[in-house]
Amino acid sequence: MRIDSVELYHVKIGMQEPFVISSGSLSARESVVVKVTSGQWVGYGESAPMPGPFYNPETLETVTHMLKDFIIPAALKWDLEDPRQVDKHLTGIRGNNFAKAGIETAIWDLWAKMRGQSLSQVMGGVRKRIPSGVALGIFSDPEKLGDRVEQCLQAGYSRVKIKIQPGWDVEPVRYLRQRFGDFPLQVDANAAYTLEDVSVFQALDQYELTMIEQPLGWQDLIDHANLQSKINTALCLDESITSLDAARQAIAIGACRIVNIKIQRVGGLGPALAIHDYCKGKGIPLWCGTMPESGLGQSFGLALASLPGFVYPADVEPTDRFYVEDLVRPALKLKNGAIDVPMGPGVGVAVKEEFLSNCVFRKERRIAG
Ligand code: MG
Repeated sequence: MRIDSVELYHVKIGMQEPFVISSGSLSARESVVVKVTSGQWVGYGESAPMPGPFYNPETLETVTHMLKDFIIPAALKWDLEDPRQVDKHLTGIRGNNFAKAGIETAIWDLWAKMRGQSLSQVMGGVRKRIPSGVALGIFSDPEKLGDRVEQCLQAGYSRVKIKIQPGWDVEPVRYLRQRFGDFPLQVDANAAYTLEDVSVFQALDQYELTMIEQPLGWQDLIDHANLQSKINTALCLDESITSLDAARQAIAIGACRIVNIKIQRVGGLGPALAIHDYCKGKGIPLWCGTMPESGLGQSFGLALASLPGFVYPADVEPTDRFYVEDLVRPALKLKNGAIDVPMGPGVGVAVKEEFLSNCVFRKERRIAG
């Protein structure tokens, strides 16, 4: 399979409300949509970094630069038999995993469409529906958070995750347990703490959290292993798991008991599958995280989460949770706590061409030869 052309669209999607985490906030969803063509076939992927370098070092400007000046010129020379080969072709480009994921996922979409199969089918998915968990940002007081959690539980979400940061950690968790009792609850610190805060995590131990996500440094494994040895609650790594090697090393030293896979963070579906297979072999349970991407990127997440190693609810949420209008149809819908895995050819959702062209404020096109 050869790629004839690649187009980049910088899109901006209105959000229902800002999403606040310990390291920054998101008030509109901007991302780079990557369109690849091969003969009559078209595939779409998405690079969805945060608006600033506060989740990882990448931004919209860096992913555009890497795609335009390095990745696309290389991709137009590839002759691929399988999209798993993309990652190997890109090993000469260090890091920049969100940029890589944009073209890599587009090639998976195109390749699965050529076979007339859904992504879930070509990757060996076993689930048709993915339990959906809600991720709630940082609130001004526990009661307001509690009111929001009540709405989410009524809406049927399969679990609740709240973002924490120093000063907003034990108290909101204590409040939620007191108000709602036992329900699937986990916290995510986005790397906001250090080992000096071990008492915070020991205090959280009594609240039966499903997991504590990325409490310490975004590139750290050793301190996480140290912290895990001092608490009972399972640690889950997000930011630190940037590759199969990182997952292998984290598991080897006991830095986590659960792994979160984000397609963007690991550079695409090929690396995500490799991490899935490794963790499954080691008995480490997985779940699928999102940035969140648009409905396009989230649909790749649904396909990935249909694999057997993904046992906890995903961060994939229904379209109307974040977006005023999404760039794909059909919208993702929450039914009985879960979202259907798109089963049409490729990623299984259609990019609204007219919406895409209306959203574009920069378009780049490169053609082979
Ligand atoms: Mg996280």
